[in-house]
Amino acid sequence: VSVPVRRLVVLGVAAAAALAVLAQPALPDTAPIAPSSDLPWTNPLHQSPIELLMSQIASQIAGKQVSVRCEGMTDWTSLVARSGGDPTAELGYVGVQYQNGELVSLSPYAELAGEKVCLPLQNFAAATAKPTKCRSAAFETVTVSTKKRVRITTKKVVGGKSRLVSTWVTRLVPSQIARIGNYGPPGPCFATTPRVQDVSTNFWTNYDAYATAMLTLAHESIHLSGVVGLSRPTGDLGDPLAEVKAQCWGMQWIPYVAEQLGDTPDDAQAIAEYTWQVIYPRYKTLGSGQYWSAACVPGGPLDLHPGQPWP
Ligand SMILES: [Zn+2]
Repeated sequence: VSVPVRRLVVLGVAAAAALAVLAQPALPDTAPIAPSSDLPWTNPLHQSPIELLMSQIASQIAGKQVSVRCEGMTDWTSLVARSGGDPTAELGYVGVQYQNGELVSLSPYAELAGEKVCLPLQNFAAATAKPTKCRSAAFETVTVSTKKRVRITTKKVVGGKSRLVSTWVTRLVPSQIARIGNYGPPGPCFATTPRVQDVSTNFWTNYDAYATAMLTLAHESIHLSGVVGLSRPTGDLGDPLAEVKAQCWGMQWIPYVAEQLGDTPDDAQAIAEYTWQVIYPRYKTLGSGQYWSAACVPGGPLDLHPGQPWP
């Protein structure tokens, strides 16, 4: 007798768990760091709250203890120029040294462009309402009174004769109109559901900046794990696919990055989806195409978790 009962109990728990998943309320955004007016690159020891948080994220992605350093415009310009790069185009790098074609030194930290990577991520992390979210409009039908000119015809007797007389009068008449009512709760703005609030050109410019900054952090984290290479006119060193892997694998880490910055899983996935649809295709030509690969597709050889939502 006890066996069927136990089985029933187990079934009951399973059913309750399934229901709980379906009825999950919208999770609130969290702020893993406090809002601050300090710029992320002003701590001389590179221990600002956002640098520490980004270092934790990078360590998780790299699979070992690493860190990141945010640099202000002056330092960034001289650092990148010294290594022969373009300070306005580069967003981050990891220092490497080769000797006789062999990797002899891999930096344990990534250097990041402070204004384009660290500052957007600091603002994102400190926000309790994530700036990549917006509210959906709920339309409602309401009855309002509107003025309408109406013609009324009355019968009048003039001089013993009956006549119909028409006059125009203004009356208030009820009419139904559709209007935007209360906004729904904030949700992923890059989604299939149309969302209208705050969706200005400026909103999407900022959205792009947040997604780019998250991609850069994840991209450099892949390099920190040891996926590095240098392409030179005299011959490539290291992994010739290092940039393709850093970009493709980095993109797939975006949901993790966004969640660590306090975003909810649905919006974190939406930012990754945006990156895949809008940002990734740009790299077909950007940077001489060295970041882009046709192999970076769901189910392809660079898919980190086949069968799961892409990217
Ligand atoms: Zn790279």
